[in-house]
Amino acid sequence: MGEPVGRYDRELTAGLDAVRAAARVCRAVAQRLVGADTVAKKDQSPVTVADFASQAVVCQRLERAFPGDPVVGEEDAHELRGGDAQGLRAAVVRAVAAEVGGDPGAAPVLSWIDHGRAHADGPRYWTLDPIDGTKGFLRGEQYAVALGLIEDGEVVVGLLGCPNFPDGAGGRGTLFAAVRGEGTRRLALWDPGDLTGRPSEVAHPRSPAEARFCESVESAHSDQDHSAKIAALLGITAEPFRIDSQAKYAAVAEGDASIYLRLPTRKDYREKIWDHAAGKLVVEEAGGRVTDADGAPLDFRRGRTLAANRGVVATSGGPLHDLVLSAIQQVRNG
Ligand code: AMP
Ligand code: MG
Repeated sequence: MGEPVGRYDRELTAGLDAVRAAARVCRAVAQRLVGADTVAKKDQSPVTVADFASQAVVCQRLERAFPGDPVVGEEDAHELRGGDAQGLRAAVVRAVAAEVGGDPGAAPVLSWIDHGRAHADGPRYWTLDPIDGTKGFLRGEQYAVALGLIEDGEVVVGLLGCPNFPDGAGGRGTLFAAVRGEGTRRLALWDPGDLTGRPSEVAHPRSPAEARFCESVESAHSDQDHSAKIAALLGITAEPFRIDSQAKYAAVAEGDASIYLRLPTRKDYREKIWDHAAGKLVVEEAGGRVTDADGAPLDFRRGRTLAANRGVVATSGGPLHDLVLSAIQQVRNG
């Protein structure tokens, strides 16, 4: 008998390689982040450079491994093509060159970025957030390279490369990898030889009052007054754990938190698929549950946004999830 072969092994291998390459690009740009003044200039901010360069290296690798697969990325190269974007374009090409080796030249780099311009329809596509949590990136805190593969509206592979997530050995850099039906594993982000890592599993609090909850640092991204009321209803007295990016899903998958609340701050906001695809599978395959704030499953068949959903609730699952959903209803009606 040979080794068991997973259904998505090829996708997983290519995805791990792509996310690790992108994480190295982001880390290299972050290491050159010298002071607030480099951030002030919007068009050449390090986060802009890293965002484009990260999308370029992920798409380059996915295009090579799966030439027929569409990629729905957050960015496109339009902004880089203008005559006044020379400086930014050169900085992006340099950041990509440091990872791919040699001098790829601007044209291929722009075409890799634009490979991520596909439409979110059809039976199978990847979705990419090249840097999720840009504010966290700039603060030297949590951010993630988030890559998901969607087939027939289901997320089947979810990868979160988290350069600043504790690695369990006193350092930072963890890669969360989930495959539908096969569990979530946490791997060493900076060690390309680590293909198995160890399983991630949610933790069940002894009572709802003991649940830790996490939410966005940015009050514009999730209604923090609302979540404080929900926490109070559940009897939770601990302060929320506020971190940027889909590292919140990773925290739930690892049992560092057992509730992630993302409550709409505006009626018209629709969550982006690349902000949730990978994280949702990472939590579910670690034993948890993810729905929107009304308890409906996240619907990845609606294009670039979760047009049918409002907000997101991720928990360690079991009765806790329903308790959180009913607390949301009570606060809403209250
Ligand atoms: P977080 O780091 O969890 O605060 O989420 C970062 C993500 O929030 C970004 O990638 C944006 O796509 C997304 N975002 C931007 N505006 C909003 C909003 N009004 N509500 C929810 N999410 C938002
Ligand atoms: Mg994002």
